[in-house]
Amino acid sequence: MSGDILLQVKGLKKYYPAGSSLFGRNQRYVKAVDGVDLAIRRGQTVGLVGESGCGKSTLGKSVLRLIEPTQGSVEFEGQDVLRLPPKKMRELRKRMQIVFQDPYSALNPRMTVFETVRSPLDAFGIGDRQTREKKVMDVIEYVGLSRQQMHRYPHEFSGGQRQRMIIARALVLEPSFIVCDEPVSALDVSIRSQVLNLMQDIQRERGLTYLFISHDLSVVKHVSDQVAVMYLGRIVEQASRTQIFSNPQHPYTQALMSAIPIPDAGHRRQHTTLEGDVPSPLDPPQGCHFHTRCPQAVPRCAAQAPCLRETEPGHWTACHLCSGTPQKEGQA
Ligand code: SF4
Repeated sequence: MSGDILLQVKGLKKYYPAGSSLFGRNQRYVKAVDGVDLAIRRGQTVGLVGESGCGKSTLGKSVLRLIEPTQGSVEFEGQDVLRLPPKKMRELRKRMQIVFQDPYSALNPRMTVFETVRSPLDAFGIGDRQTREKKVMDVIEYVGLSRQQMHRYPHEFSGGQRQRMIIARALVLEPSFIVCDEPVSALDVSIRSQVLNLMQDIQRERGLTYLFISHDLSVVKHVSDQVAVMYLGRIVEQASRTQIFSNPQHPYTQALMSAIPIPDAGHRRQHTTLEGDVPSPLDPPQGCHFHTRCPQAVPRCAAQAPCLRETEPGHWTACHLCSGTPQKEGQA
């Protein structure tokens, strides 16, 4: 694994059994994540984007082993996460944290801010009482809450403040990697940028690495160094933020991009409308999963799945219309 890569995912799959087919012959599976390769450099943010139900959150939780993947490997700080025994995995959890989408449901309504942020230190038995209290107070202030608010309950806070509590709870263990699972999508638009800016400041000051999951390309554009676009359990395009936003190559990325509003009323973008919903991952279309909705599909698309190809240095696209060098295992 290259020195500055913090997290390397290879061939990751998460299949859920979904009963048998008619006459009970074949076991059927929901292929929530279907062979994902991903590398995240230390101190950087990979934005993972796609519509609801494409497998983004399942991928994030599989990487942290909050759910057990079906196949593949996850290497973090040189350790093979999926093969660690429970005791070592527990130790590693201090270094890998998650911030969930809905801060209210992720908080215990009976615990104060102080108790909430202290709970991971209690669970891992870190430090004595005084050390824990100091750590908790420091991190609460660090995320922009005050000491006077320390003994209040979640319902006494706004959505943005509750998300600050969640961030403080994740930070108190001093992780190096955080999966941010739609961390601002439940917040009012007016406070989204405050929370995003806070997360970026924290990343700069503490050298954190993020996997930032969002259905919103404009949010991903704001925070990411690299962007991976996911459709029905697979990565269909991956590149630097600049490459993705200046030269989107996959028709799905182009369609997502065309839906981003442009603030300048005089400037119009060519609009690509996606027809229909994302097909069921229980019965995904043969060939290219996207062919049932793709405005550029050709006959070959229904018969053959495209592999990721490097179409320009560091820019990977899975589409028959794009030419380039095919991906080797774990390369993208
Ligand atoms: Fe569209 Fe075919 Fe490319 Fe898939 S492979 S994105 S269906 S053109």
